[in-house]
Amino acid sequence: MEQKNLLRIVKTWKISDKPEYRGFRCASCQKYIHKAWHHQLRTGGYRTPVHFCNLCKAKLNTLRMKGVFKTFTCDNCGKKMYKSWHVWSKKGGILAEAHFCKNCGDKLGIDRKIKGVIYDLDGTIVSTTKIHEAAWLYAGEKFNVPISKEMLLNQKGISTEAAAKMILPRNKKYLLRKFIKAKQKYVIDNINKAILFPGILKVINQLTQKGYKIWICTSALKARVEEILNIFTSLKKIKNNIIWCEMYRKGKPSPEALNLTTKKMGLAKTEVYYIGDAFSDYKTSAAAKVKFIYFCPNIRNRDKRIPKPIPIISSHKEIFKLLK
Ligand SMILES: [Zn+2]
Ligand SMILES: [Zn+2]
Ligand SMILES: [Zn+2]
Repeated sequence: MEQKNLLRIVKTWKISDKPEYRGFRCASCQKYIHKAWHHQLRTGGYRTPVHFCNLCKAKLNTLRMKGVFKTFTCDNCGKKMYKSWHVWSKKGGILAEAHFCKNCGDKLGIDRKIKGVIYDLDGTIVSTTKIHEAAWLYAGEKFNVPISKEMLLNQKGISTEAAAKMILPRNKKYLLRKFIKAKQKYVIDNINKAILFPGILKVINQLTQKGYKIWICTSALKARVEEILNIFTSLKKIKNNIIWCEMYRKGKPSPEALNLTTKKMGLAKTEVYYIGDAFSDYKTSAAAKVKFIYFCPNIRNRDKRIPKPIPIISSHKEIFKLLK
């Protein structure tokens, strides 16, 4: 009976999908109040407290509703408050309302524009550049193919096959398959030498604590992602937040991978940043209409094709400046 009556009242509410910071109103007469009778609606697709002033409670008392008379408290820290963030969210088809004090609202980023950060993997979270270079040098030595500095620079960001074709001289093209295999084997045998970029784990932890959703969107194959997770086990915390190569059809610079990532995050394109180290990452974000941050550990080597207005960071902790 009580639930039915509460539901009838709540159904007349205009529910805002944007968080509001304001005082509490009586659910019946809409007057602002500092203390209220607290009831809890748990049916009809809702889960929300319903508050009544003393007067309305008396009038409604024929409905024999129980409830407690008390001041309002923050759902996060339990502190008493007169004003609060009113936040509606939908989880599992149920509309729920939560109330947070000013402090917790700031901490949880209730009013924040950016709600998630998407990281590229290779060259952004994990530094594998040196291993790939060493692998080409190893393959070159094995097949007596000279590897120049320029070749090492140009193999960045392109597939192993494309790189092998670029490196092999015409009279050795027939070695292509064996050449690729040797390179790949070296990478696999030495993947444990890969290092994480300084501070990345700390930054991911801090962002998570602040309520940001953290995802990885990579063009690496699932097998290599798993290998990296096995080495850097602390990354396993976000193992369910990774979009890898086999999960989408068109690779960078198609927006498909980022479209999928934002969809899985449950966020709008305007609510996320994508951080990557390569021109193809930038092109992907532009195609997906997602804001881009250029991660460039060595600014002297910055890729000039990425336009100047794009924010650039050389260490991961700098992201906090951009999120302010
Ligand atoms: Zn009232
Ligand atoms: Zn609080
Ligand atoms: Zn990368």
